[in-house]
Amino acid sequence: MRIDVLTLFPAMFAGPLDESIIKRARDQGLLELKLHSLRDWTHDRHRTVDDRPFGGGPGMLLKPEPIFEAVESLRRPDSRVILLSPAGRLLTQAVAHELAGVPHLVLLCGSYEGVDERVREFLVDDDLSIGDYVLTNGALPAMVLIDVVTRLLPGVLGDDASSRDESFSAGGLEYPQYTRPAEFRGLKVPEVLVSGHHAAIAQWRARQAWMRTLQRRPDLAAKAPPGSGSV
Ligand code: SAM
Repeated sequence: MRIDVLTLFPAMFAGPLDESIIKRARDQGLLELKLHSLRDWTHDRHRTVDDRPFGGGPGMLLKPEPIFEAVESLRRPDSRVILLSPAGRLLTQAVAHELAGVPHLVLLCGSYEGVDERVREFLVDDDLSIGDYVLTNGALPAMVLIDVVTRLLPGVLGDDASSRDESFSAGGLEYPQYTRPAEFRGLKVPEVLVSGHHAAIAQWRARQAWMRTLQRRPDLAAKAPPGSGSV
């Protein structure tokens, strides 16, 4: 997969995308990531990307011209152009699976008070929100999207079952997990997990996943049938 990111702050991306699973995916050529400064598509001496909103109001908006030029120069026939925006549809695990099948993503990060609405109406294919809160600019949302999508690409996780068994993949939350020691400060792990009885363990996990989903995320439980936790 190739991802091009359009942002005013390419330096923000150093770190999160240069470590761990994303770094490995990039090193292995499973993810090709390119960061671009939106100012590279401006033509004036001050490299202006923003202007005041028509009708007044606080703050500045990103102007349409550099954004249209940038997207038109990066877009391919198989691209999906995505604006990160609090007004977008919610980025869920299901949406991440959908995006993992797209060969080329162009991510457009807003800044200031946002982006001229003509960008949303006439340029992008999709707009996505990472949740009901407002971040300073689109760099962190873009990094979240890159992370959730990259770990779903075939070959990125050591064991592809890891992403199939996770919270949200089958609709509900994952079951609780424990590691050694079996007893720590008098706190014991559930007996069934050290029993070696695989069928009993699977049954316990399915029940725990379902109970956890019901208690903590009744909204998910209402959509998912019993037993559709992460097992
Ligand atoms: N005035 C906008 C509003 O009220 O909806 C908020 C603009 S925000 C300060 C600047 C940029 O950050 C947005 O254009 C968007 O790219 C990004 N952003 C902020 N919160 C976001 C979220 N929850 N999901 C996705 N992008 C977000």
